[in-house]
Amino acid sequence: MVRHFPIPLSPLLLMLSLLAPSSGATRPQYNYTEPQLPVFELHSGFWINLHHTLYYEARQRKTFLSREANATKSAPPKSVLAGKRLTDAAQKAWDDAVAYYMVNYADKDLLFTTELIQLKDQLGDFEDCDELSGRKRKFCDAGLPSNLTQALEAAAPVYRVHLWPEHDRANRRWILQVAPLVREQGVGLSERLADIYQTRWPHQKIRVDVVAYANWAGAYTTVDPLRVTISSLDARNQGPQALEVLFHEGSHGIAETVEAAIIRECRQRDKPIPRDLWHALVFYTTGEVIRTVLTSSPAGRGDKGKGAPDNGYDTYAFREGLYQRGWKSYLELLQRFWQPYLDGKASFDDAIARMVSSL
Ligand SMILES: [Zn+2]
Repeated sequence: MVRHFPIPLSPLLLMLSLLAPSSGATRPQYNYTEPQLPVFELHSGFWINLHHTLYYEARQRKTFLSREANATKSAPPKSVLAGKRLTDAAQKAWDDAVAYYMVNYADKDLLFTTELIQLKDQLGDFEDCDELSGRKRKFCDAGLPSNLTQALEAAAPVYRVHLWPEHDRANRRWILQVAPLVREQGVGLSERLADIYQTRWPHQKIRVDVVAYANWAGAYTTVDPLRVTISSLDARNQGPQALEVLFHEGSHGIAETVEAAIIRECRQRDKPIPRDLWHALVFYTTGEVIRTVLTSSPAGRGDKGKGAPDNGYDTYAFREGLYQRGWKSYLELLQRFWQPYLDGKASFDDAIARMVSSL
């Protein structure tokens, strides 16, 4: 069953949303937005968190069932609600919602499926609503397929009581941890990255939905509108790397210039287009730019380009072993030809041309 529900907020609806009372003291907290930050707008929203939690649970169960079918013995995955005392009715509401996600979404990718991208964006837009059907307040009709609205609304009370407090707390903790660095360095970093990619950083703040569970990568970015989703629980997104993950994801909105330049050079030289070179470049660039900011002592820059952990900041791609797992040759190209561009000793076009001719 595929039903489309791309309902952009009309000006009237937007106005009504703005006029709508936000989560007041008498109603449960539905979302939190960190105010007064430059560059990014960080949200912890109820519906988008519920959605990603259901998707996570549905995928876990589906993977387990397919393993069972292949006769591989493994323990069933622990439910996100394991250890919580649920009534039979609550358990059923949750299981029904997970079953709905297993049938409709578990096989689809959060990053590449238009239906899931629109659903995520829509749930983000309705974060101030305590319902999605518009039953109580007309402007809270999110226009979702009715079965989905039903599943989400039935699972919502269970999630609100048993998981949302800890998910929301983790999200806010993540936001508060990264906020000072964004406040202090955000504008400079965005300008530096835009310069590197020879473009402009988006004028509007980039919306970031902080969620307990994101996708397999721990974070992903969708465009038109440009929105970032980051997991607050993922071990890869913690500490100083939180800032790097934020700007890596944001860079997805401005790095098409690199991809286009690589493709152009390859075509001119009649070479196959290397998959992921642009993405390795974005990882490398964000890592180096963040390292410059986070490493205060000049000595910290002595070993630049190598990403070694002993010079103050261990970049995400090194720490997570991305270069070691298939990008080793890309790293060599980046250190040899792209780093001089970052150091102001080569032009953008020359750096890309040299990388491609050395492939
Ligand atoms: Zn990426």
